[in-house]
Amino acid sequence: MKRSLIWFRNDLRLHDNEALAKASQADEILPVYIFDPRHYGTTSFGFPKTGSHRAKFLLESLDNLKSNLISHNLNLAIRIGKPEEILPDVIEKHGIDLLFAHKEITREEIDVEEKIKQSVGDKLNFVWGSTLFHINDIPFTKNEIPDIFTQFRKKTEKQSEARKELGFRKDVKLIPDVETESLPSLKELGLKATPKDDRAVLNFKGGEDEALKRLEEYFWNQDQLKNYKYTRNGLLGADYSSKFSPWLANGALSPRRIYWEVKRYEEERQSNISTYWMIFELIWRDYFRFSAWKNGDRLFFAPGIQGKDRSWRTDPKDFKKWAEGNTGIPFIDANMRELNATGYMSNRGRQNVASFLAQNLNIDWRMGAEYFESLLLDYDPCSNYGNWAYNSTVGHDPRNRYFNIINQAQKYDKKGEYTRNWLPELEKVPEEFIHEPYKMNPEQQTLYSVEIGKSYPKPMINLEESYEEIKARE
Ligand code: FAD
Repeated sequence: MKRSLIWFRNDLRLHDNEALAKASQADEILPVYIFDPRHYGTTSFGFPKTGSHRAKFLLESLDNLKSNLISHNLNLAIRIGKPEEILPDVIEKHGIDLLFAHKEITREEIDVEEKIKQSVGDKLNFVWGSTLFHINDIPFTKNEIPDIFTQFRKKTEKQSEARKELGFRKDVKLIPDVETESLPSLKELGLKATPKDDRAVLNFKGGEDEALKRLEEYFWNQDQLKNYKYTRNGLLGADYSSKFSPWLANGALSPRRIYWEVKRYEEERQSNISTYWMIFELIWRDYFRFSAWKNGDRLFFAPGIQGKDRSWRTDPKDFKKWAEGNTGIPFIDANMRELNATGYMSNRGRQNVASFLAQNLNIDWRMGAEYFESLLLDYDPCSNYGNWAYNSTVGHDPRNRYFNIINQAQKYDKKGEYTRNWLPELEKVPEEFIHEPYKMNPEQQTLYSVEIGKSYPKPMINLEESYEEIKARE
């Protein structure tokens, strides 16, 4: 009689889950999820490490995982504490022979893995499962991962294949007489629920069932995949992009499921640049993970993987204006207010607010990254810190990259609909002034019911001067 434990981490699904597939080869299994109190502490700059948007999404994901396990006559044991203390204890108490879990590659997670290994030794078996291409199938060793995305993508596309999905043995039994315990509430995690905002692009709900529903909706019912490349820079509404990221981040959705659905779509409907582009973006996601594997802790240091010396500001007042969406630059403020209210922001928005903080304000990019870590529904250390570093000129782009915020606003929110949606105080401001309301004279301000400096802030910096500073920095 063999007994296995599956420790669910960021793989909260039954489909295509190698840890579950392997664990289910035993006679009896015990699925376990552990709330690690360290995830509910504060970041180094003092933000809640897991904010309430993501915590709520996680609780929904676990609730769904538990129900799906129950529908297979299994269950999910919930524990609160440090995995390195809980797992050895459970293993001993229930005579577990093998422990299966997905491998992570960033510092905090590795530290925990090493401590568990010290206690349980060879019982611990890691599998790899968060990327589209398996770590053993990419044409690079760890040190060979290129510093340039295109080099990674081209060789990987040619030489790697996405693996087929893995199922688990359905008649595996649950280890009997194990207390399962119920999920903690947000309050028990030290968090307060944030009110629902009807302006959210999507009513994101955690869990594998919702993830698969979203996939069905976006690809098949709304038939949006065929236009993805041309809509993906949008800002308003559910369907300009897939919105898969929160489910991918906690593993409720497997990237390989997306890949094989793209392939089916290409066969059954059409294959074009947009269908390819969905896979292209998943390769970006893989790239940030494999790059984090190669670069280790440098991902989290101010000089980034480029090791760039630069003096950063950490002014708390300026940072607060950015974080709260009170910079006086409407496009930045609208995006930050969306993030605060919903836990989501478009990719276009993220690039602009990151560029504004790290480049125009010259504030330590890690403050922004930690703020995102706290707020984002789809927070993932590799994609978050990797993208932040990239947009702050210390990551995978050697250029002194920055955005012209007003040009971006005028290009991607031409009429100002997105900006007005999140800044109701600018509701009456016409297209001509929506992205630069500070250019209105007092009569115009009265006419459009806004008073710059009172009902909406004055710009915290002169953008043009800040571009000169950015250029001079290199
Ligand atoms: P789609 O456009 O539909 O893309 C499909 C999938 O491809 C996404 O779900 C995502 O998994 C992947 N993808 C797309 N763009 C990127 C990218 N630039 N980098 C990595 N993967 C990508 N993404 C996260 O998943 N977690 C993060 O913590 C995160 N932090 C970010 C921070 C900054 C400063 C920036 C600029 C980007 C960040 N991104 C992050 C990447 C990207 O913004 C989101 O993945 C995307 O906006 C999610 O929306 P979507 O699922 O509709 O994307």
